Amino acid sequence: MTKVIAVANQKGGVGKTTTAINLGAALAEKDQRVLIIDFDPQGNASTGLGIDKEDREITTYDVLVDDMSADSAILKTNTPNLWLLPATGDLSSADVDMTEEPHRLLRLKLGLERDDFSNANYDVIFIDCPPSLSVLTLNAFAAADSVLVPLQAEFFALEGLTQLILTVRQIRENLNPTLHISSVVLTMMDSRNRLSAQVEADAREHLGDLVFQTIIPRNVRLSEAPSFGIPAIEYDTNSRGAEAYRALAGEFLEKLG
Ligand code: ATP
Ligand code: MG
Repeated sequence: MTKVIAVANQKGGVGKTTTAINLGAALAEKDQRVLIIDFDPQGNASTGLGIDKEDREITTYDVLVDDMSADSAILKTNTPNLWLLPATGDLSSADVDMTEEPHRLLRLKLGLERDDFSNANYDVIFIDCPPSLSVLTLNAFAAADSVLVPLQAEFFALEGLTQLILTVRQIRENLNPTLHISSVVLTMMDSRNRLSAQVEADAREHLGDLVFQTIIPRNVRLSEAPSFGIPAIEYDTNSRGAEAYRALAGEFLEKLG
């Protein structure tokens, strides 16, 4: 059974794309078949996986707006077991271009159900959401089984979660009755920093078991890898960042049972 997981946080720059790519790559390394859907007009997941703009012929925009099949858009990455449904900047107009559509918030879900896509045998699909609670993110929530929230260790980290939790609840009540936040991963942590420790303590107190034990440290290799178009777990396979995402993948699979 394919697990569809929206990687979401309306706050920008908290590690959504880094987590989608590297958790995805670490799971792929553990023989899971992983698809990353780039659902952000910034196209960072596509760039970070080495797919040049010229090679993104069919994109998430086409699946959402033009009824293209997801299968036709998906590209194999250089990482074994890792596939990508790429995005380009035109995704930013999908919102407006879908206004005529009757099921505006179900476009991604319908796209993934088109042409027997569900038979494609992926173990995990990560939807890399944009930094907003826009129509795009709502489409991701309508299509997903659960939501994974990267939380950056900084002062207002938990504040933004309230709005996210309310949005997930609304989608659950209206469109997707089993949607839930399945996990929270603490990112860019610096163990020597008192603020990081405080954010971790608060998160564990308020969110309990939702928070992964594994913490992603601030690690420069994680930020360098995208410019080489490969996951950090390949770019510097023994780096602390790579090891952390491998540990996260282990915990993730345990949680899935
Ligand atoms: P956006 O909201 O713009 O989509 P995002 O939530 O996807 O951002 P990322 O793009 O993954 O966040 O990360 C933001 C920046 O921080 C990037 O430059 C990334 O390389 C860097 N970064 C992410 N995680 C780490 C980390 N653990 N250590 C060091 N740098 C990191
Ligand atoms: Mg991103």
